[in-house]
Amino acid sequence: MRFDILTIFPKIFDSYLDQSILKRAQSKNLIEIHIHDIRTYSKQSHKKVDDIPYGGGAGMVMTPEPLYNAIQFVKKLNKGRVIYFSPRGDVLTQQKAEKYTQELIENAQKKTSKKKSSHGFILLCGRYEGIDERVIDLVVDEELSIGKYVLTGGEIPAMTFVDCVSRLIPGVLGKEESHLNDSFSKALKRKKEYPQYTRPRIFKNKKVPDVLFSGNHKDIEQWRNQHLK
Ligand code: SAM
Repeated sequence: MRFDILTIFPKIFDSYLDQSILKRAQSKNLIEIHIHDIRTYSKQSHKKVDDIPYGGGAGMVMTPEPLYNAIQFVKKLNKGRVIYFSPRGDVLTQQKAEKYTQELIENAQKKTSKKKSSHGFILLCGRYEGIDERVIDLVVDEELSIGKYVLTGGEIPAMTFVDCVSRLIPGVLGKEESHLNDSFSKALKRKKEYPQYTRPRIFKNKKVPDVLFSGNHKDIEQWRNQHLK
């Protein structure tokens, strides 16, 4: 399951994607993450990738050529969908993440061992005021937002996407972890999770609800269902 991330700040990804569950998923070959520096595709001096907006206004816009060329190059390795992270896009939800993971699984099954390319996702991170609209028209399949607020760049959205889609791939979470009863899952009727408790039984005078010690699975399930939000 392959993710190709296009960015002008490739080092941002060094820490997050190389820890814990995502690191284990990569070493088990369940996912592959490839980071591409968009500046490599700039023919301008100093590897410039931005310019002033036509029509005036504050800030800079990412120029189309390096983005287009970077995507064309990556498309030879990954035949999957091109997603541009943007506050204008549809907001990412757990149900959408499930759909993307399903798409990855189906595409992986279609892939024959002879083919060198994969069908994963190509993830485009914007910066500045965003990217030239013609890149969206020509090569972007989908615009995706991670929430109704504005970040400085698409790198955190790309990491969010890789994280929430990867953890739904069978085998990525260990035996002790599961996504099946998470907030917004089908099992929880797409609601927010019930409260969770662990030791100690009393903390700062606050007690864990008695029903959780009853050993009665029906009562516990009923209590949990009542406390979904
Ligand atoms: N001028 C743009 C606007 O008003 O919609 C905001 C550009 S933002 C400062 C720079 C980049 O950050 C965007 O191109 C996008 O890739 C990323 N970004 C910022 N907020 C985002 C969000 N909520 N979801 C996804 N990507 C976001």
